[in-house]
Amino acid sequence: MARYTGAVCRLCRREGQKLFLKGERCYTGKCAISRRSYAPGQHGQGRKKLTEYGLQLRAKQKARRYYGVLEHQFAHYFELATKIKEGKTGENLLAILESRLDNIVYRLGWASSRAEARQLVVHNHFKLNGKKVNVPSLLVKIGDVISLDEKSQSNVKFKSLIEANSSRPVPKWLELDLNKFEAKKLAMPAREDIDLEVEETLIVELYSK
Ligand code: SF4
Repeated sequence: MARYTGAVCRLCRREGQKLFLKGERCYTGKCAISRRSYAPGQHGQGRKKLTEYGLQLRAKQKARRYYGVLEHQFAHYFELATKIKEGKTGENLLAILESRLDNIVYRLGWASSRAEARQLVVHNHFKLNGKKVNVPSLLVKIGDVISLDEKSQSNVKFKSLIEANSSRPVPKWLELDLNKFEAKKLAMPAREDIDLEVEETLIVELYSK
């Protein structure tokens, strides 16, 4: 599976905001964007005002990098969003991205970053409705139950992960029962439930050209 393997802090600096790609480090003074808030590269500090297309492209790249998905996957999610009859396409796109299994594992505090969540899913640590799953891009539906595999529940790594991420609030569209190591998706996330600072209408404009 193709994936970006470069320095992830450069991606945040390029987008001019924290994308929380590195787990715990993102919440400390070691965060690269707190120290160097300009874009990377030789001309990073002297970039000109963006064109309309430039703004649209940056919005798309920001969302894509935040969720760690590839171009073709992102375009596929946009296609899915356009087919939803209710609501706004941009908001539906973000709700679909939030519904990815790796994102939900991250939102539940079972991983420090989406990249780590992806790896844990691939390594068979989770179940969906009682069956083992190892596909990070799987879209979780309303009513689906995600649980930590029995063997992994006693794993020291998960105990420390859950403890380390306990201060991150679980969104209200998910119901977490830590005693059972399981969670249920209660609803599709609304725009106000999604903390990504992006103008999703710009993404819609980009794909509508
Ligand atoms: Fe982004 Fe985290 Fe790196 Fe800060 S530490 S620049 S939030 S990936």
